Amino acid sequence: MTTEQYKRPVPVPDEVSTPFWEGCKKHELLIIRCSDCGYYIHWPKQRCPQCWSTNVAPAKVSGRGTVYSYTIYQVEGPPGFKPPYSVVLVSLEEQEDVRICSNLEDCPLDQIKIGMPVEVFFRDVPEEDVSIPLFRPRKGTK
Ligand SMILES: [Zn+2]
Repeated sequence: MTTEQYKRPVPVPDEVSTPFWEGCKKHELLIIRCSDCGYYIHWPKQRCPQCWSTNVAPAKVSGRGTVYSYTIYQVEGPPGFKPPYSVVLVSLEEQEDVRICSNLEDCPLDQIKIGMPVEVFFRDVPEEDVSIPLFRPRKGTK
């Protein structure tokens, strides 16, 4: 990993998203969950969209999911992203409509498929004091 790759924009956590990013630093995927109805909420919000409860808190999830959708960027984009690269929308196994936008790595671009099993991993960016959640194909699956 070269420093050049970390010329990427980094997240700027706010009051609501701080638990998510603090979890990433510990290599844990924390998704806000409603304590009243059990619904997972992502992006983080302070109110459950299902039952309108404000009784929500971060909950650790497995980090396993499937590719819901993806695209391959072929043109120059944000700083630090060298095309071609993938952008994936991953559905988490805990709740299909909890989807995380990320990059899929350790996978040839022409082998990405909708529905493929993936798992989260974290890339530490110590100079920025953040860890970025990324996805890779799940081991032992196709
Ligand atoms: Zn709820």
